[in-house]
Amino acid sequence: RERLGVTAGVGAPLTVLAGPTAVGKGTVAAYIREHFPEVKLSVSATTRAPRPGEVEGQHYFFVDDEGFDRMLAQDDLLEWATVHNSHRYGTPRGPVLDAAAQGELVLLEIDLQGARQVRASMPDARLVFLAPPSWEELVDRLVGRGTEGEAERTRRLETAKVELAAADEFDAVIVNDEVPKAAARLVELMRGDG
Ligand code: 5GP
Repeated sequence: RERLGVTAGVGAPLTVLAGPTAVGKGTVAAYIREHFPEVKLSVSATTRAPRPGEVEGQHYFFVDDEGFDRMLAQDDLLEWATVHNSHRYGTPRGPVLDAAAQGELVLLEIDLQGARQVRASMPDARLVFLAPPSWEELVDRLVGRGTEGEAERTRRLETAKVELAAADEFDAVIVNDEVPKAAARLVELMRGDG
């Protein structure tokens, strides 16, 4: 089977799933975690606080600002960004590159700034844009989720508007009309038979 270069020329390409806020990236990622165990989901570090039900080391590594600074100083992060003008999020480099080098299907669920950094440092990476069925649907989801206050919601919608326009920088666009369908389509792409 053909192997595409990662860093040292061996391994499988990374796949990055990005898209506007509240489009359901997290839900698609959770579905994949449950139904497609062959996909290795990258676990990001973040300075934001855990939400109810989130598990350290499974959904995120929750760190304080000093911890994040330390990772940056050690060059531990493949990419990182300040998301929605508030907290920092980043992808630990080691686990992702090791898994990819072994030919595993690796998925990064990150924001658009991070996706661009991955594209710049790893041109072979496959960038997949998750799109909402419509703008109205996106607003409904953001309001319905109820995890953000009004100011935060407004800020995230501003980000989403800009992010929606970025779809054409991506290798593929998947419309998230139904989570199981979108997840299956993504895994198909990752297996290289999409
Ligand atoms: P949330 O706080 O809702 O879990 O995530 C907020 C945003 O941060 C989402 O758009 C998510 O994709 C993004 N994000 C999560 N982890 C990372 C990461 O490691 N790097 C980047 N650039 N964005 C991330």
